[in-house]
Amino acid sequence: MNSFVPEKPAQGLPPASAPATAPETAIPGRPLAGRVAIVTGSSSGIGLAVLEELAMAGAHVVMNGFGDRAELERSSARLATAHGVDAIYHGADMTRPAEIADLVAVTEARFGQVDILVNNAGIQHVAPIEDFPAEKWDAILAINLSAAFHTTQQVLPGMKRRGFGRIINIASAHGLVGSPFKSAYVAAKHGILGLTKVTALETAEAGITANAICPGYVWTPLVEKQITAQALSHKIGREEVIRNVLLAQQPNKQFAQANEIGALAVFLAGAAAKSITGATLSVDGGWTAH
Ligand code: NAD
Repeated sequence: MNSFVPEKPAQGLPPASAPATAPETAIPGRPLAGRVAIVTGSSSGIGLAVLEELAMAGAHVVMNGFGDRAELERSSARLATAHGVDAIYHGADMTRPAEIADLVAVTEARFGQVDILVNNAGIQHVAPIEDFPAEKWDAILAINLSAAFHTTQQVLPGMKRRGFGRIINIASAHGLVGSPFKSAYVAAKHGILGLTKVTALETAEAGITANAICPGYVWTPLVEKQITAQALSHKIGREEVIRNVLLAQQPNKQFAQANEIGALAVFLAGAAAKSITGATLSVDGGWTAH
């Protein structure tokens, strides 16, 4: 995994435009050495796996998300030691634009740059539209969609100045198709695909790419909560929820592992993906092939 080493330009072709701060003379196995990455919602689940894969690939990383601050600071320090990078924790609440601005400002002050932004923080609530609490709708739209606008707005000026940036939005198969009882989540995830495309178009000549990863079901605490909620709402057992409700649409009938999403993020952040922008990449066991 993560073993991509960029090729030298073929003879007679112009050299690839080099980023300002981390030359693409990548160290084998450390293709992102010298890069700086923020991963929102990386105290758990997919975000944590993405953070670990980016650090393993050599990037300095900024962990964000809820949890016990002291424990998260220890956990980012352990990650740094394990992978020979620098890592910090910032507890910005993704519903608060001022805290998002501080997350980016603190990262730039510490590392001088933000090269990779992974918008991953997300929450879920499952209920029919008639019963869907308005405050849950507002929170899901704020965290799963608006936060990505605010982070993107904060990092773009620096990325444009340096002529390099990678924005990776963790959307969902629910960015491409709907499911009952998930009105806010499906709306937010469809929205983030739109934001991804516009970001890609506005930055296409600036050495920046913006892409969305659309996972199907990945085994994380967020999914664990849904198993309980769906079992209650359908009045059925856990195994039946997993096979016939959650994985009903996922043809391979398996949860993906979070590090699969991390590996794809590393690829999108690397040199081989410089022409991939505005794309939606499904990691869904065939769900959206229906
Ligand atoms: P998770 O519950 O394990 O992690 C969510 C993370 O977001 C945590 O670190 C949490 O602290 C953080 N977070 C929540 N609210 C926040 C806030 N206001 N400010 C800052 N951080 C906040 O969930 P996960 O399953 O790892 O999901 C991560 C992302 O992947 C989400 O965007 C989710 O929609 C998406 N996704 C997950 C699956 C899946 O099957 N697990 C599938 C498709 C997409």
